[in-house]
This record gives sequence, C-alpha cells and structure tokens, in this order.
Amino acid sequence: GRATSTRVAVVGGSIGGMTAAGLLRDAGYQVDVYERSPGPLSGLGTGIVVQPELVRFLLERTTTTLEDISVPSSSMKYVDASSGALIGATDDSWRFTSYNALYHRLLENFGLERYHFSCNLEQVVDHGDQVDLTFSSGETAQADLVVLADGGASAGRRQLLGVTPEYAGYVTWRGLAELDALSASTRDYFDDTFTYGLLDDGHLIAYPIPVVDAEGQTRRALNYQWYWNVPAGPALDELMTDRNGVRRPTSVHHHDLRPELLAEFHSRASERLTDTFVELLHAAREPFVTVIADADVPQMRVGRCVLIGDAAVTPRPHAAAGGAKAAADAWALVAALTDGGDDLDGALTKWEAQQLPVGRAYLQKVRRMADVLQHGGRFTPGDPANRFGLPTVVAG
Ligand code: FAD
Repeated sequence: GRATSTRVAVVGGSIGGMTAAGLLRDAGYQVDVYERSPGPLSGLGTGIVVQPELVRFLLERTTTTLEDISVPSSSMKYVDASSGALIGATDDSWRFTSYNALYHRLLENFGLERYHFSCNLEQVVDHGDQVDLTFSSGETAQADLVVLADGGASAGRRQLLGVTPEYAGYVTWRGLAELDALSASTRDYFDDTFTYGLLDDGHLIAYPIPVVDAEGQTRRALNYQWYWNVPAGPALDELMTDRNGVRRPTSVHHHDLRPELLAEFHSRASERLTDTFVELLHAAREPFVTVIADADVPQMRVGRCVLIGDAAVTPRPHAAAGGAKAAADAWALVAALTDGGDDLDGALTKWEAQQLPVGRAYLQKVRRMADVLQHGGRFTPGDPANRFGLPTVVAG
C-alpha cells in the first residue's frame, strides 16, 4: 500500500512531533524526525495538566500507565493573592504530569535510530508532490509529506505562511518548590489542589507535579507561575536582558538572570502577595522568566507540508491544552490519512478543515481567559468557559 513507500519527515521532536512520528510509523510510513536541539530536550521541571489527547499515545501504544507519569489533585481553589481571601473552590480533580516525563517516554518508544538531533530547519520548499528540506548544517532531506511540529517560533510557518508569534503583553515567572522546603501549613495550602491566585493586574497558579529522580523514583513537588503585565518596549527589553547584556527573545533561565531582577522578583512578591505565596516563591529553586506570545494561522497545510501543534496556532497556556492540541492534530492527521486511502492530498484537505477550527477556537478561548486573568476581571470559580481543555467544535 501507499503507507510503506511514503517518506515522512517530521520537523521538531517534541510532544506534537513525537506523537505524529510514533503514530505514522505504526501506520507503516517511513518516518524520520529532525530536531534542532543537539541532545534530549529538557522541560526545566515545569508541569503540564493531563488532558486525554496529551497522554493517549503513551497509554494506548506503550506500557506506560497514568500513575507512572502523573499525580492527582482533588480540587480547584480561587483566592485573592494580595489578601488571602477565598473567592471560591470547586471539587474538579485534575492530574498533572511534567514535560520531561512525557518526552522521555515518547523518545524511548520511537528510539534514536531515526531521531536526528542538531537538525535546525532552515529552508522548506514544497514542490507539490515532494518537499525539500535544508538544515543549518547544510544537510538536506526529501520527503513525500512533511509534518512541521517545530513549535511556537516555527521556521516552517514563517517561510510557508509568513506568520510569526506576537507578544501577548505579559510574561510568566516559573519555578518549582520541593514539598519539604515548605512549612506544613503552606504545603497543605497548595498540595492536592490547583490554586488560582488572582490579582488586579495579573495572576498566579500553583499545582503539584511529579519529579523523577536519578533512581527513577517519583516525588511530588509544587510548580508555580506568576504572570506579570509588561509593556513591549524598554520595560520588556530590560526584563529580558540577561546578566551578559544579551536581550533574550523567549526565556531568561535562572543562571542567566541579572541579580537585580531576581531581587525585584522577590521584593515584588513581598509587597504584593500573602505570606503563603511568598513562601512558595522563595522556596522554589531557580525561578526563571518567559514571554507569552501567540499566533493565529489562516491555514495548516501548504501542498505536502502540514503544520501541527504550536507550529500552527500558537496558543497561550491558560487552558492547559497546548500539548493536547499538538497531540490531537497528530491523531487526526493519521486518521485522515488512513481513511483517505490513496488520496493523500484529499486526506490533508480534510484534516485541515477539521483541525483549523479547533486550533482557532482554542486561541480565542485562551485569549478571553487572559483578558480576565491579567486585568482584574471576574474569574468565576467553576465557569465552564474557563475549564481546562480543548473546545468542542462542530465542523462546518
Ligand atoms: P514544542 O513542544 O514547542 O516543540 C517544538 C520542537 O521543535 C522543539 O523540540 C524544538 O526544539 C524544535 N524546533 C524548533 N525550531 C526548529 C527548527 N527550526 N528545526 C528543527 N526543530 C526545531 N508547556 C507547559 O504547559 N508546561 C511545560 O512545562 C512546558 N515545557 C516545555 C518544555 C519544552 C522543552 C518545550 C519545547 C515546550 C514546553 N511547553 C510546556 C510548551 C507546551 O508543551 C506546548 O504547547 C507543546 O509543547 C506544543 O507541542 P509542540 O510539539 O507543538 O511544540
């Protein structure tokens, strides 16, 4: 059949790319993954809320169980982070995993033989029935189908559609605190719940995540994010300039932060937040800062190239389903190709018509959430519009 002779190049070997690669290989395609990073990726220890799509590949196609990769919480708590007043609570329970736990299992399943590190996509040329890829090293590859899963700063999307991400007007500080670094009362406050700390001009979130140690043992730790509104221009440039004077485009990692910036982070915490939040922030090892940006796309397919996950619509984090969207794009792609029989182009058209409305509706959802969360709006406990996950879209 077609599958065995069809060569697929997947660009970007993260959640979306690896889910697509595993599914396409299982379906009989000749799959190679080209990843920019020189070695295995690291999620810097931050957490991801489990959505069904996110973990579906690992649960259905490997021996991994949900318990292996995630920890649960039993409620959601909404508090005023400056006064400590409880705004509301619901008994929604969620599970949380970590980027590293997912990535390492996906990589282990796919193997390293056809996972090529140090392949930074520089040029993609679609010829209608074949695609040529050129990497920064000068190496090239040809494929019948290219899955561009190269994330929010996608080089493929920039070349094919001219779309680049746009700064959303705020940044997030992230960190991870060990439970035993916290007092019993602070530990009890945050553990077993997803906490929203609401402010007039921003918000915090905190939730437990699994951390795997060198012996493979999993322990719980607490992950937090604190979103600051920062106007584009001098204020943002100053924040994103590292200790060597280099203006970083996306993140300033902990060891690159200027000391005065870290001091400002801690003093702003003391001025603005209750002692419970301050303790959590202080207990976290190695906080770091990342800009929030998003991108919308008019299409997800150009000839024999498809864009999936963050490389298509780049959302913002607030509905906790960015990785799930990437994985869902991959599952839908393989289903469309399988259903499509010999009509590869028809299958891609069908797939795009199905997935583009999902991505765009998700972007609208997270933008709406941000408008409320970052600007002191009424973020109502349990409001279904703000529930984590992908929106349900009825295909038109
Ligand atoms: P991404 O996960 O962004 O992956 C894109 C991949 O493409 C990366 O491996 C990147 O190295 C590679 N790449 C980029 N450019 C090129 C190029 N030119 N050529 C070749 N390869 C390229 N979200 C959370 O909510 N919590 C987290 O803790 C978290 N941690 C993350 C850690 C990492 C290392 C990454 C990459 C993303 C993380 N995210 C996290 C973002 C979130 O997971 C995304 O919504 C989700 O990962 C989208 O998946 P994706 O596969 O579409 O894109």
